[in-house]
Amino acid sequence: MRKLVIIGSGPAGFTAAIYAARAQLEPLVFAGSQPGGQLTITSEVENYPGFPEGILGPDLMQKFREQATKFGAEVVDEDVEKVDLRVNPFRVWSQRGVVEALSVIIATGASAKWLGLPGEKRLLGKGVSGCAVCDGYFFKQKDVVVVGGGDSAMEDALFLTKYANSVVVVHRRTELRASKIMQQRALSNPKISFIFDSAVIDVLGEKKVEAVLIKNLKTSETRTLKVDGLFVAIGHQPNTQLVSDQLELDERGYVRVYDQSTRTSIEGVFAAGDVRDPRYRQAVTAAGDGCRAAMDAEKYLEGKIHKEVVGALKS
Ligand code: NAP
Repeated sequence: MRKLVIIGSGPAGFTAAIYAARAQLEPLVFAGSQPGGQLTITSEVENYPGFPEGILGPDLMQKFREQATKFGAEVVDEDVEKVDLRVNPFRVWSQRGVVEALSVIIATGASAKWLGLPGEKRLLGKGVSGCAVCDGYFFKQKDVVVVGGGDSAMEDALFLTKYANSVVVVHRRTELRASKIMQQRALSNPKISFIFDSAVIDVLGEKKVEAVLIKNLKTSETRTLKVDGLFVAIGHQPNTQLVSDQLELDERGYVRVYDQSTRTSIEGVFAAGDVRDPRYRQAVTAAGDGCRAAMDAEKYLEGKIHKEVVGALKS
C-alpha cells in the first residue's frame, strides 16, 4: 500500500515527486518506458528559469529525477498498463503487478499530433518524422518541409537548418502562432522559407519521402514540392488513455480539474501538467502544477487520516 503513486515523469510528475517526497509521502513514480516526457525529445531549453545559458532538455529532466530520488521518491521505468480509480485504495497495474495507493497524481503529459494523411504512417521513419531533434541528423544536405505555425514548428525548422539544405514551413494561416522571438528567428533565417494559407494534403514516395502535395487553402490550387523529409509539428493531445473512462474530461479531452486546484472528478486523484492544461503547456507551468498536485495530495491524505482516527475513536 502506497500513500501516493505518481504516473508520469515530465516536469509535472517529477516536481510532484520532489514535493511529495519532502512531505514524507514516500511516492512511487511510474516513469514509463521513455522517462522524462517531452523535454527529452527537445534540444536546448532556453526559458526554464535558473538556467541563463540554457540547458539540454534531457539534462534538465535528469536533474529533476536526481532531485526527486535524493529526497526518497522511488522511480520505476515502467509503463502503467491500467488503473482502477473507482474504489479507494486505488489500484495501479504495471509489469511488476498491482500496487495499491491512497492517492494518485496523473501527470501523463501529451503526445504529438499527426496530420492523418494516407502516406504519413506508411513513410514514418522513412522521411516522415514528428521529432526534428531525434531525426534531423539524417537530413544532411536534404530538403525538408515542416508543418505548423507554433513554437514547435519554428523550433524544429531552426533546428533542421543545422543539417538540411532548405527548410520550408507550411502553415494553414497567414499569421504564425509562435512567440515573437521564435518567429523572428525563423523568418530571418536564410535557409527557411514559408508557404502560408496552405496545407500538406499528401506525402508521396514508395520507399521514402520524395515529395509532398501542398494545397493553397484560399485558391484550392495544388502543387507538388520535391522534398526528402516531412516534419509534423502541429501540437499535442493529452495522454488520457489510462483514465478517460474513469475521470471526467473537458470538451477538448483534457482531464478536468476543479476549484483552481488539481483535484479531479474522483476524490484522491489529482492531475497535473499537460494532461490537464490545454492553455500554457510549458515546462515551468507543468512543474508548478506538479507542486500544486503534491500539496493537494498531502492535504487530502491528512484529511483522510484525520477522518479515520476520529472514526476509530468514535466506534
Ligand atoms: P501549438 O502552439 O498548439 O501550435 C500548433 C500549430 O500547428 C498551430 O500553428 C496550428 O495552426 C497548427 N496546426 C494544428 N493542427 C493542425 C492541422 N491539423 N493541420 C495543420 N496545422 C495544424 O503547438 P506547439 O507549437 O507544439 O506548442 C505547444 C506549446 O509548447 C505552446 O505553448 C508553445 O509556446 C510551447 N513551446 C515552446 C517552445 C519554446 O519556447 N522554445 C518550443 C516548443 C513549444 P493554427 O495556428 O492555425 O491553430
